[in-house]
Amino acid sequence: MTRISPDGATPAMAQWFTLKAENPEALLFFRMGDFYELFFDDATAAAAALDIALTARGNHGGEPIPMCGVPVAAAPAYLSRLIRRGFRVAVAEQTETPRKGRPASKGPLARGIVRVVTPGTLTEDELLEPGRSNLLLALVWLESATKGKRRKDEAGEVVQQLGAAWIDVSTGLFETASLPTKALPALLGRLDPAEILATSNVELGDYEGRRAPEATLPAPGTARQRLATAFDVASIEAFGTFSDEESLAAAMAVDYVRRSQAGKLPRLAHPIPQSQSGVLGIDPATRASLDILRARDGGVEHTLFTAINRTVSAAGARMLAEWLASPLTEVDAIAARQDGWWWLKDHAARCAALREALKKAPDIARALGRLSLGRGLPRDMAGIRDGLRAAREAARILAQPEAASQGVLPTLLTHAVGWLGAAQALEAELQKALAEELPARLDDGGVIAEGYDAELDEYRTLRDNSRRLIAALQTDYATRFGVPNLKIRHHAQLGYVMEVPVAASARLKDNPDLILRQGTASTARFATEELASLNVRITEAAEKAAQREKLVFAELTAKVLAERELPELAQALAVLDVLQSCASLATGGTWCRPEVSDDTAFHLEGCRHPVVEAALPPGARFTPNGCVLAPERRVMLLTGPNMAGKSTFLRQTALAVILAQGGFPVAADRAQIGVVDQLFSRVGASDDLARGRSTFMVEMTETAAILNQAGPRSLVVVDEIGRGTATLDGLAIAWSVLEALHSTVRCRAIFATHFHELSRLVDTLPRLCLHTMAVREWRGQIVFLHEVLAGSAKKSWGVHVARLAGVPVAVVERAGRLLRELERAENTIPEPLPLFDTQKTLPPPCENTLKKRLMEIDPDSLTPRAALDILYDLHKQA
Ligand code: ADP
Repeated sequence: MTRISPDGATPAMAQWFTLKAENPEALLFFRMGDFYELFFDDATAAAAALDIALTARGNHGGEPIPMCGVPVAAAPAYLSRLIRRGFRVAVAEQTETPRKGRPASKGPLARGIVRVVTPGTLTEDELLEPGRSNLLLALVWLESATKGKRRKDEAGEVVQQLGAAWIDVSTGLFETASLPTKALPALLGRLDPAEILATSNVELGDYEGRRAPEATLPAPGTARQRLATAFDVASIEAFGTFSDEESLAAAMAVDYVRRSQAGKLPRLAHPIPQSQSGVLGIDPATRASLDILRARDGGVEHTLFTAINRTVSAAGARMLAEWLASPLTEVDAIAARQDGWWWLKDHAARCAALREALKKAPDIARALGRLSLGRGLPRDMAGIRDGLRAAREAARILAQPEAASQGVLPTLLTHAVGWLGAAQALEAELQKALAEELPARLDDGGVIAEGYDAELDEYRTLRDNSRRLIAALQTDYATRFGVPNLKIRHHAQLGYVMEVPVAASARLKDNPDLILRQGTASTARFATEELASLNVRITEAAEKAAQREKLVFAELTAKVLAERELPELAQALAVLDVLQSCASLATGGTWCRPEVSDDTAFHLEGCRHPVVEAALPPGARFTPNGCVLAPERRVMLLTGPNMAGKSTFLRQTALAVILAQGGFPVAADRAQIGVVDQLFSRVGASDDLARGRSTFMVEMTETAAILNQAGPRSLVVVDEIGRGTATLDGLAIAWSVLEALHSTVRCRAIFATHFHELSRLVDTLPRLCLHTMAVREWRGQIVFLHEVLAGSAKKSWGVHVARLAGVPVAVVERAGRLLRELERAENTIPEPLPLFDTQKTLPPPCENTLKKRLMEIDPDSLTPRAALDILYDLHKQA
């Protein structure tokens, strides 16, 4: 921005300069009457971004001041566009109401910034996505403290701890975590924050664009106390254990939110420290390859979320997204979710009734957020009332007496029902207080029902009686002044006036009871003393009614905010919505309840990819496939031509884990999954050329990440490792990665490849099993059956796929001839190729009996004692 000196500014512009200096990096929305005006560079930038007219107003330093404006009534829509384009907006309101008779010499009305709108601190529905959280994430890394303490992990490496805290201002959610720096990418992927406050030593990678311009670390040693004061407790340890970094991040986030709301802190839940251990590890590359909440094309249509979402409320959709983004690793917690929806599935009528009740539940959490900031709309108050009504109805449905005879309600449902009974008196109060039909804004009046507040009723009666008197005057005046078509009208500047046709005005002009106020070509407007005094009475009464209505609304707001259990009630409704969504999905028999166990079992029968299935053209059927990665055959080598369905199979297997551990039904006939601690999926080309890295470099970086991080409880699904380099290079790399996954990492894995040569490893890697995608040749054409069969592909079918893709026939035929020649040539090459020299690359072959014996052993399930026994036994036989 060019620096403009405030010297010589008019008083209004001087005010603008002062306010602009408070938030130099934000566009300043400067309230002037019914408009927010923008000036100088702000105006130029906003006019371009919003595609609105750029004009000029007055002069500054001899130059016209560029200006544009947006109507206050339409501000949310404009704000939303600006925020989406990466702007931040400071909103300056008039903090003084214009009074009649205020001398102009007093200068411009006082103005102050009431709020800075940033991507992570939004509250309005117009600016938010209903089914997604909108998070502000604060990250603190204290390098010196880490060095000082030198925390070490099991491998003896210094662990650099990062403090994280995230807040959803719109719902009040507030959570914190302490995590090693290397876990940051996974956290960013999981939370997908709208805005990030981070100390400058924290690298945000792909999320750098979301960094807020300033992150001010609270003074060391004050963070805990500031948080305790903000939440009105003696010590934040009341809420759990927080590391120093965590409490600093939390205090930094709270300070930022407070600043963005001009000093006012919205209602926030108290911070809850999150353990990272109970959550399935999903790194960003895995998230990107699986289209969980967002598809690779940026949309939401072709995502796992959309495929399973049967929620009926925005809060339910948000919770579903949260569960999908962070599946669990604790069997009991997973089973609790399953028990919840399983019960609802078994009680279909009740589930249907519950769904109907939830459809009527508005977004209580977001309404509360706005109310707590004094930004509550009449519909937010009605939202609380209707939400409470829906909660009561939901509780009644679930706790019907016959439920007892049908077994106990599962824990999650009992727990939810417990919260649903909160705030009963408030519901009755709101029921009485709110009018039947509500206006959009409190200023429009008529929000509070008649009969709720005596004083308000009195002002309204006064106002309405005077209006009635005026209406009666019209007939009276018509006779009195002899003008039958005389009208009494309200006029914005003149108040109530008598309007007569010009023809009659000449006669009335000299009437001492009438004062001519205005004449137009066709009518003349007169005032009378009577009208003037009624006018004053009406204005006063209306003003008082409006003030009183605001006061009553504020009192109601205070009552709503005093109900400490409302957030939990909102949460309970959201949980019920997710559970009914799961029950709906599981009804119909194509989705199963998976068995999730604390071992390394892996058995899927008739599994499908829900997103690919949903996108198939009408008439096409998805071919379900099983997948067994039992301990004794935990690595699957999958071969088959392109387009045969390999990636779909890999992804559906990974998705089954996410669904099962999220507590959801799985798209399969049967599923048994031993809890996976980390999921790695590398499927589909993820060219990262924008960052200047070649496909091969990206592939190797990702491979390195897997080999360095995966462990025996992980699941790895990888496609075409080594495809980005020369054939022999690629084959060698694929080979060694497969060996490492099998023998060093010892995880469950599916390794898809077009290197058929790898199939030979089945002789040396005992836990490797071979599978291939079924294809059939029919009249020279290739038919993909999408079926996963035991065995390995005999040929690669590349030439056929080229034909299918529309490569000209001549080129395809030439390729076919070349292939036959090459195959003939290859057969003459003596085997093994140096690369395939198993003597060099593999451990020496063992004696047959020894090998057989070793292959019978499952080291993962051996106790140390049993292992020792076997070793002695083998030694004896040697
Ligand atoms: P590959 O990874 O082997 O190249 P894909 O998994 O991308 O193949 O599958 C190619 C297309 O085949 C998919 O877009 C889908 O339309 C179809 N497909 C894949 N698997 C199945 C299946 N199991 N049943 C039906 N159609 C499938």
